[in-house]
Amino acid sequence: MNQIKIGVIGASGNIGRYTHCENIVKYTDGAVLTAVSSSSKASVQKIADHYCVQAMENAEELITSDQVDAVLICSSNETHVPYTIRCLEEGKPVFLEKPMANTLEEAQLLLEAEKKAGEHMVQIGFMRRYDPDYIEMKKVLDSGSLGAPLMVHCISRTRYTNLKNRPDSEHITVIGVHEVDICRWLLEENMKEVMVRFPRSTTVETGDSRDPQFLLMQTENDILIDVEATANSYYGYEILCEVVCEKGTIRLPVTPSVMVRSYLNVGQALPPDWNDRFVVAYRNEVQHWVDYLLGKTDVPGPGTADGYEACRICDAFIRAQKTGCWETV
Ligand code: NAP
Repeated sequence: MNQIKIGVIGASGNIGRYTHCENIVKYTDGAVLTAVSSSSKASVQKIADHYCVQAMENAEELITSDQVDAVLICSSNETHVPYTIRCLEEGKPVFLEKPMANTLEEAQLLLEAEKKAGEHMVQIGFMRRYDPDYIEMKKVLDSGSLGAPLMVHCISRTRYTNLKNRPDSEHITVIGVHEVDICRWLLEENMKEVMVRFPRSTTVETGDSRDPQFLLMQTENDILIDVEATANSYYGYEILCEVVCEKGTIRLPVTPSVMVRSYLNVGQALPPDWNDRFVVAYRNEVQHWVDYLLGKTDVPGPGTADGYEACRICDAFIRAQKTGCWETV
């Protein structure tokens, strides 16, 4: 096979339409978009017409279609596990958006399904591992020139999230999960304990939800990680990270945009959301998945073991939200 036929489930959503379909069609070598689906054929028909591909009646039709070799799932979180398991039953590899599962029990079911289907059948959408800035951070850290890492400070601010009537746990499963994975990847360590504190809540757009939340994690070797998880920053999308080592620190650049001086002012534009901040990472993660499927690399991307570990840590965070104490992972 020298070209993978990809079907996208959740193609009418934010990340499906603006990021994944677009990247498969325009930026992925060795792949072709052949089919799309979402919760109804009507809502995905426009996308299908735009890319001249087939709109499927539903996910099941897409998964079983002979026009689809591999499936990219970026539909709502609760669909992740059932659709991935169906793909695995059909022997089709999956690129699955994060979070791998909403609960640890569901994550376990997926692990078992993959065991039956074969190794590395699922890549999880932990795209920060493909971001050039994080890759550079890891290179410096791994060189050992700054000594051992001691602490990590992370900030994750989303400009706007409609949190009304959403549970507190979504700060963990939607926002915190990225910090969990990137810290595991950077430090090559698992977490042993986690804790959550609730500062005063913003009154901007939150409804009943508590926003921001302050997350703490401690690794097996006692590296302490703090994360400010803000769902409604109002002013822009910003991801910051600083690893504090024995002999220096490594920081993500504040924003990779030009500095503009205007009348009595100097500043840089901020990205409005994740899509603009992680453009390259989203392209590279799908390219890597396709390269792996085509046998161009034998290094698989982040898989179900990473997804499961992230779920275990998130599960402990959700317990910690209720108890207010350090919880063991
Ligand atoms: P969204 O805009 O709400 O889109 C959800 C998509 O899922 C829509 O296409 C929707 O179809 C479809 N859908 C809903 N229920 C379905 C069902 N039962 N069967 C099939 N399709 C169904 O959400 P989003 O922001 O794009 O997020 C989608 C997923 O991507 C989430 O899991 C999210 O965590 C993940 N995500 C990851 C990142 C990242 O940085 N890696 C960023 C954003 C999102 P209709 O339009 O027909 O309702």
